Amino acid sequence: MSGKFIGAHVSAAGGVENAPVNASEIGANAFALFTRNQRQWKAKPLTEDSIEKFKKNCKELGFSSSHILPHDSYLINLGHPEEAGLKKSRDAFLDEMQRCEQLGLKLLNFHPGSHLNKISEDDCLKRVAESINITLSKTSGVTAVIENTAGQGSNVGYRFEHLARIIELTEDRTRVGVCIDTCHGWAAGYDFLTDDGYEKTWNDFEKIIGIEMLKGIHLNDAKKELGSKVDRHASLGEGKMKDVTFSRMMKDSRFDDVPIILETPQPELWPKEIEWLRNEATK
Ligand SMILES: [Zn+2]
Ligand SMILES: [Zn+2]
Repeated sequence: MSGKFIGAHVSAAGGVENAPVNASEIGANAFALFTRNQRQWKAKPLTEDSIEKFKKNCKELGFSSSHILPHDSYLINLGHPEEAGLKKSRDAFLDEMQRCEQLGLKLLNFHPGSHLNKISEDDCLKRVAESINITLSKTSGVTAVIENTAGQGSNVGYRFEHLARIIELTEDRTRVGVCIDTCHGWAAGYDFLTDDGYEKTWNDFEKIIGIEMLKGIHLNDAKKELGSKVDRHASLGEGKMKDVTFSRMMKDSRFDDVPIILETPQPELWPKEIEWLRNEATK
């Protein structure tokens, strides 16, 4: 079935098996989750019981693994300039990917990394690519989905060229992809709002990365100005990109079949936001 697959980054509190239930309750047919505590380095392994229930719930509630976009821990920096930090990040990322394997998931979304002002951007991008290569060589069936960033601090990944550079350096391109976060793109200077801006942004994406690499969308409005480099998500229509941006994206067939995930700041609005998006998609 093609069409739009829309959801939100839902809670997995009490166990990963609760995420599909939470997603179903807000009317989603796609979702994102953390498979471990995103603010701690140490994580307990998933239990057999939890894995089985997760798979059963996804099946019963109609979620396909192509529309589930797990997000890794915010602590991980795959482009870390120092050996100890890099190793710690790579170990944790491998654990994240193995959890996805256990859960039968196909995608793992992550922010590329930060140079911490100690190495160049390109050296940082090279480290990220090497981290991906190492992890993919130790796992199977899961695609590494690189997210664009707002360009805050020393984060890399705020230009489409950065994502293309990482992809260029990876050994198995069948298992890398990208996720575009609209708020991050906007903050980094990509205009999704005006007619010309929208066309140019996605034309650039096609030219520099390729639409076939798109494995997910984070759909967020932005509180700050275009190019502010400040990452502040807003609920749809309550930020600078306005309803028109998201309405337009719902009518754009390039975004069929990829998980479209809300990370908007008011979870109580998710059912309404999802319903509104579905309506726009069919107009
Ligand atoms: Zn995001
Ligand atoms: Zn963000």
